[in-house]
Amino acid sequence: MAEPYDTLLQVQELDTELDQLRHRIEALPERAALAELGSRQAALAVAMAEVQALVDDLAGRQSALEQQIAASARRRHEIEERMRSGGVTAARDLQAMDHEVGQLADRQHDLEEEEILLMEEEEPLDIALAEHRATAVELEVELRAAIELAQTARAAVATGLPDELAERYERLRTHLGGVGAARLVGNRCDGCHLTLPSVEVERIHQLPADTFATCPQCDRILVH
Ligand SMILES: [Zn+2]
Repeated sequence: MAEPYDTLLQVQELDTELDQLRHRIEALPERAALAELGSRQAALAVAMAEVQALVDDLAGRQSALEQQIAASARRRHEIEERMRSGGVTAARDLQAMDHEVGQLADRQHDLEEEEILLMEEEEPLDIALAEHRATAVELEVELRAAIELAQTARAAVATGLPDELAERYERLRTHLGGVGAARLVGNRCDGCHLTLPSVEVERIHQLPADTFATCPQCDRILVH
């Protein structure tokens, strides 16, 4: 292999590394965990809101009933004051309402317990989310540093490439999934992994060392 083709392969290696690093940033495994935790947290938030609405509703009904009881008690007192007899019915009504208030209070208590359980369930999720976020941030910082390093190396190496070759490589790389230059390994193109006809391989081997071939299958710059 002669210059500038070993340089070209170095550039290709660095570009592949850069693509992989960028892809890792896009698809940090921690992000998947974050998404999953996030949706569990959202579901819990919905459940909590539902319970909260029930608690609020019950509390409202309870307080309305309590006001009614107080009003009835006042009214009964007035009637009793005036008549001093026949207060039995009113007392029974009050008892029934009092019983209902007790039931509402019990139900509210149950719902509040349920709410506490949901909050307890959410707590470790919040902690896990915070941890995952911190790890994701750390990983991203590391990856960005690695990208910067590889970019610097790539820029330095690429100065050794003739413009025409660099342009051709870039064009191919854009159209062929990030790989514009490949080695001829035995009789296989390392870019498309297809076997070349032996006549073609022989022809390529007879080319001068400073000349590149083109893979007849994928069109990539084939370095021999
Ligand atoms: Zn090929």
